[in-house]
Amino acid sequence: MLLPQSLQGTLLMLILFVGWPVLFVMSYFIIRRGRSYAQKLKKTVVGKLMKPTIAGWIFGLYALGIVATAYMIGIPWLLIVPPVFAIFLVMIVIIYRAMAGWEREATEMHKFYENLERLVKDRTKKLEEAHKLSIAHEKEIQKLKDQFVFIAAHELKTPVTAIRWSIENVMTAKKKLPPDLMDMLNTVQLSNQRLITLVDDLLNVARIEAGTIKISSRNIDINAIIKQTLAEMHSVFSEKKLTVEYVPKKSTAWADPERVKQVLINLLSNATKYNKQKGKIVVSLQEKENMVCVSISDTGIGIQHSDMQILFTKFGRIKNEKTMESEGTGLGLFLSKELVVAMHGQIDVKSTVGEGSTFSFTLPMKQKK
Ligand code: ADP
Repeated sequence: MLLPQSLQGTLLMLILFVGWPVLFVMSYFIIRRGRSYAQKLKKTVVGKLMKPTIAGWIFGLYALGIVATAYMIGIPWLLIVPPVFAIFLVMIVIIYRAMAGWEREATEMHKFYENLERLVKDRTKKLEEAHKLSIAHEKEIQKLKDQFVFIAAHELKTPVTAIRWSIENVMTAKKKLPPDLMDMLNTVQLSNQRLITLVDDLLNVARIEAGTIKISSRNIDINAIIKQTLAEMHSVFSEKKLTVEYVPKKSTAWADPERVKQVLINLLSNATKYNKQKGKIVVSLQEKENMVCVSISDTGIGIQHSDMQILFTKFGRIKNEKTMESEGTGLGLFLSKELVVAMHGQIDVKSTVGEGSTFSFTLPMKQKK
């Protein structure tokens, strides 16, 4: 026993309650900041000697102190403190290293995501710019196409009209023509008429798209217009031996008579084209909430529900055998809708495959204020 009995207790208390906690806290901070200290120390001579960390040195000194104290106060069980402390220290180092690793990984991951985000933003911006450019390009091409169609149709209009007048003059001339020549002229006249209709449709589409279509609405006798159109189309109906029904009804509308007639001709032509031989067409006129409604029903092929979205679109034709048998451009319904809308009305269709279709359009009865 190197120390007097009275001092042994005091020293033991000091080691247990002051020395341990102080060393404990110190070791913790040194380990925590050990990395940066070690980085700085590495460059010095002392640093080269101090391997692997300062914590090792601290532990060494502490262990020596404990062993010396144990020897001085003659308490052998204090000798187990250094190994216990060593295990504790190793655990702290392992946990610290793991945590530092996670932190590093998290930082790297964060940087990676930041880069990725920046990259995605850059690419999105470039794509948006390219998209805007392609839209502008597309618009320009569309404009040029529309201009071309308008010019071509406009240039065609004069010669086809001249051909019609010439044929009419020849056919109605005083000098009678042989029947076979008359037949040939009739065929030419029919084909020419189809060309005139196509040219007119193209010109109207171009005007609608350019917003220059002229609508001269006024108070019209819609009943009279329907009767007149039906009379003019009589030969068309009789070619297919169709029965046409219309119960006249006095009614007026605020619309452009020429445009209304154009819509009627389109819908009645379709009701004929897509009807069966000896089928039926029913035209009706109703008044409802300051609007007149004209309906044209047929007993034709009908339209499938999935094909409805094609109707009223530019050049929209349903691709089935029966439709393809008949000639058409897919412009009639598009034009009809645009004209009806321009006259503040609406156009609609109801259909059952194999039974027939009903196309109806409304027009205001009075001028809208
Ligand atoms: P087109 O008759 O010249 O093809 P439309 O624009 O008038 O062009 O009609 C578009 C399409 O709508 C037609 O091709 C046809 O498939 C369908 N369709 C229009 N009217 C009828 C109808 N009454 N019955 C059945 N299908 C119709």
